[in-house]
Amino acid sequence: MRKDDCIFCKIANGEIPSKTIYEDEEFRVILDLGPATKGHALILPKEHFQNIYEIPQETAAKAMILAKKMATLITEKLHADGFNIVQNNNEVAGQTVFHFHMHLIPRYEGDGQNINWIPGEPTQEELEKIKDEITK
Ligand code: 5GP
Ligand code: ZN
Repeated sequence: MRKDDCIFCKIANGEIPSKTIYEDEEFRVILDLGPATKGHALILPKEHFQNIYEIPQETAAKAMILAKKMATLITEKLHADGFNIVQNNNEVAGQTVFHFHMHLIPRYEGDGQNINWIPGEPTQEELEKIKDEITK
């Protein structure tokens, strides 16, 4: 299904042009218009799913396999030194376009980018409690 007012639906299905670096029946991979680094790309499923919670397991699995292939290709072609794969869900997590996508971000020595968080300092007891919250 496609969502009429969704820009990534339109891009993924070719209604809006994009710099496409890969396409198959289910996915399009495009260059990000506001790249973190040279070669920053986005994997877009052609069907509309808002986020990780909505995407079917099978599509998620295929997206991850495609991410591996594209990361390898981009790294080789652009001589990257490393790679980040980022995937944001909901506004609080930094999602700005509400059509599931995976960021493929090649990294280069000295690129000056930071994909980071401030590490917490939980006690063993706190970690144990969280473990229980998730697993019980
Ligand atoms: P989010 O913050 O939702 O995880 O990422 C959205 C990404 O989409 C951003 O990196 C932004 O630069 C990119 N973006 C937004 N609109 C367009 C567009 O029209 N075309 C392309 N190629 N990228 C876009
Ligand atoms: Zn969409």
